[in-house]
Amino acid sequence: MSPAQTKSVLICGGGIVGLSCAYYLARDGWAVTVVERNAEGADSCAQGSAGYISPSHVIPLAAPGMVAKGLKWMMSSRSPFYIKPRLDADLLRWGWLFARSCTAEHTVRTAPVLRDLCLGGRKLFVELAAATGDAFELKHEGLLNLCKTQETLDHETHGLAALANELGVEARVLDAKQTAALEPGTKLDVVGSVYFPIDAHLTPRKFMPALTGLLRQMGVTFQWSTSVNGWRTESGRVVAAQTTAGELKADEFVLAGGSWSAAMTDGLDLRLPLQAGKGYSLTIEQPRFRLTKSMILTERRVAVTPMGDKLRFGGTMEIAGHSDRVRPERVEQIIAAAKFFLPEFTDADFAGIKPWFGYRPVSPDGLPYIGRFGRHPNLTAACGHAMLGVTMAPITGLLVSEILGGREPSVPLATLRPDRFS
Ligand SMILES: Cc1cc2nc3c(=O)[nH]c(=O)nc-3n(C[C@H](O)[C@H](O)[C@H](O)COP(=O)(O)OP(=O)(O)OC[C@H]3O[C@@H](n4cnc5c(N)ncnc54)[C@H](O)[C@@H]3O)c2cc1C
Repeated sequence: MSPAQTKSVLICGGGIVGLSCAYYLARDGWAVTVVERNAEGADSCAQGSAGYISPSHVIPLAAPGMVAKGLKWMMSSRSPFYIKPRLDADLLRWGWLFARSCTAEHTVRTAPVLRDLCLGGRKLFVELAAATGDAFELKHEGLLNLCKTQETLDHETHGLAALANELGVEARVLDAKQTAALEPGTKLDVVGSVYFPIDAHLTPRKFMPALTGLLRQMGVTFQWSTSVNGWRTESGRVVAAQTTAGELKADEFVLAGGSWSAAMTDGLDLRLPLQAGKGYSLTIEQPRFRLTKSMILTERRVAVTPMGDKLRFGGTMEIAGHSDRVRPERVEQIIAAAKFFLPEFTDADFAGIKPWFGYRPVSPDGLPYIGRFGRHPNLTAACGHAMLGVTMAPITGLLVSEILGGREPSVPLATLRPDRFS
């Protein structure tokens, strides 16, 4: 029996990242328990997401120009990226750190890391598809970034496409005709697009139960409907998580609470700047048009994904805390964008659809937190993936298993340290 087989790990949070950590740790022989405050099968952020696996996303959210855009967008709750102005010390600090990261140097430094995490995630999803008999409809169709104006297409060509190609992620600039030939399923009213053949997509509502089933077969224990509400530590080491079902002890602990991760560390004296980035999606159950490619409606930041027989439109980023209030104007913006880029779609296609919303865990520099905390060395962060938590879930799980197993990490961890803002 290897030493790892005798050791236990408690994963706090059973979203896509927590479950992915469970998979790679169980594969290494750890005794794994996942503690999740919701019941089995309940909603989580990945489930209503666009389901992209996106190596194309090499530019972090904290990118040059975002401060000016953010300030402008702050004035309108209809904008794609909306920060609700409020006097909150955590938000102010997060905003300051975000602004500090919006530089060209930051993009140059972090783009290769994002590429490696996303490419790593894509490779592992192929293996997971094989392990589950393709239970989650993994499609290798690429991603079309549709551009409504020549100005945007030029901007994408010289910005994202140029950087992606430089980093070895193929990006093809297409005119309107070439774009239409790639997605003949519906009329596209665009001047062109940037096509990323390496991108893939999946059906998240099928992925989560498939992974849970696999974990159960691997002997992972689930503690559903149980909230972590405190910690017991001894000389810096975490001894137990205090939960609504009593103390849960383990040798190692993984923080995978998504946008609630910072709140979950209350009492541990850690600094983990994190904001909830609310997004919405609308799923058409029986679309009139059959699309094959996932697409981004670039000027409006709306994602379109074919998922089996369904079609999902999603987007918007609202930094306004964990508020369950649905803002109709934000949902309307998604529908307006769909009609603007895909003119065969009408209001009737969206009639009666209940908007879904979820909270992305958004770090201020656009990078996830992956690694051990200096103050509590047996607590490992696996959170803060913002818009890329689906894409990066498996590589995060693999990295966490490498950290806990004392192995060389597949992706260098220096920029991902959870203590980097302490
Ligand atoms: C509209 C939208 C579209 C998106 N599209 C994409 C996409 O196409 N591709 C992509 O890569 N990413 C996408 N994302 C982002 C992605 O969905 C998230 O980054 C990812 O799902 C985060 O996963 P997570 O496991 O970290 O967090 P979560 O899914 O939030 O999971 C955290 C879990 O922790 C649990 N929890 C919290 N507090 C406690 C506690 N105290 N005790 C116990 N359990 C607790 C929660 O109940 C939850 O289940 C999208 C997000 C949105 C909103």
